[in-house]
Amino acid sequence: MPSGYDGFKYGADREIYSAAKVKALESLLIEKGIITGNTVDTILSYFETEMGPFNGAKLVAKAWVDPAFKARLLADCNAACAEMDFPPGMSGAEGEHMRIVENTPEVHNVIVCTLCSCYPWPTLGLPPYWFKDPTFRARVVREPRVVLKEFGVELDDSVEVRVWDSSAQIRWWVLPMRPAGTEGMSEAQLASLLTPEAMMGVATVTVNR
Ligand code: FE
Repeated sequence: MPSGYDGFKYGADREIYSAAKVKALESLLIEKGIITGNTVDTILSYFETEMGPFNGAKLVAKAWVDPAFKARLLADCNAACAEMDFPPGMSGAEGEHMRIVENTPEVHNVIVCTLCSCYPWPTLGLPPYWFKDPTFRARVVREPRVVLKEFGVELDDSVEVRVWDSSAQIRWWVLPMRPAGTEGMSEAQLASLLTPEAMMGVATVTVNR
């Protein structure tokens, strides 16, 4: 999230309470024999090393340098993922039907799950807290331009805004525009410019030089 954004007014102690609740729940599940002591650590490490926005960044960077790959990515995201050296089995984890939509000078896309928190885990990892916030989910549909402006994305009136509502059937994400001044960059350098927010449509990609 952009620094300085306080659109949700979360209390400063939210993380402490959340962590305490998670700890209590984990202890209870271990006590009842439903999970073992390292189940949570195993899952967390999976999201840190195998399934996360670093995968989405690689896909977008490759699409930026390879128009044929971009066409395949837009046509069939899951098939394009299968071309990469990603860990197997990812598509089974909230990624069975992912679709990516392309930002252009004429169209800006933003994603939401109005019902709950559906999100393309294989390419973007776990959703940020605010993505599940009922206020964000309602407002981004009702007044997307206002919400985008609060996130720091100022769009010209001529730009069409499209809001994509994910569900258990389709999980959307965004192919951001490649910023100017990146012509000489390698795929790895391009991937390092990408943020989860840019691939959600609530930020643009910038070159910090
Ligand atoms: Fe959902």
